[in-house]
Amino acid sequence: MTRILVVEDESGIALALEEDLRAEGYEVEVVEDGETASRRAREESFDAILLDLMLPRKDGYEVCRELRRAGVATPILILTAKTHEAEKVLGLELGADDYVTKPYSPRELRARIKAVLRRTTGDIPSVYRFGDAEVDFGRRELRRAGRVVETTPLEFKLLEAFVERRGRVLSRQQLLDAAWGREVYITDRVVDNQVNHLRRKVEPDPSRPRYLISIRGIGYRFDG
Ligand code: CA
Repeated sequence: MTRILVVEDESGIALALEEDLRAEGYEVEVVEDGETASRRAREESFDAILLDLMLPRKDGYEVCRELRRAGVATPILILTAKTHEAEKVLGLELGADDYVTKPYSPRELRARIKAVLRRTTGDIPSVYRFGDAEVDFGRRELRRAGRVVETTPLEFKLLEAFVERRGRVLSRQQLLDAAWGREVYITDRVVDNQVNHLRRKVEPDPSRPRYLISIRGIGYRFDG
């Protein structure tokens, strides 16, 4: 059974989350403060953690940082207010995998949870397909409708980062780390330009992207 740790101090929200997740067939444990969350996540193995940010005793950022530092790789979804983009970026950079905005929609919650669980259950096949595109990791080649599309090594790395983390939001900093490496100083603009190059190669209509989706104020998500 898939086990989810819910960390939320507002009991109304916690209860709603618990009910929605149970209805989906997940086993749920609810804790109400950051200290307990950090301890429980290390004591037992959960398949995913839903983590509120403003918590008593230890905030969600600190919990995230602690768990990642302790080598806990459990996917973490942070719960955040819709308008707080800086919170989302910081959360993602501290090691969260994705976020769910409050007030949350049950449908969105289900989709986000499925996406993070997918990462842990399936390895990426050597050829990944979406639409008419094939990303061949063995040959490091992109094909559309069977024809090779030229990509630069950087574009391919970027594509690889997107495929590996499909369905999840990536900040520009995370894309930068994945494709350029941590030691390089690059501006956000350069990341955006490269994503646009990539769009021209994978999107049926680059002016209306359906695979490489812009997430305002944060970065991008690959929905392939
Ligand atoms: Ca709270």
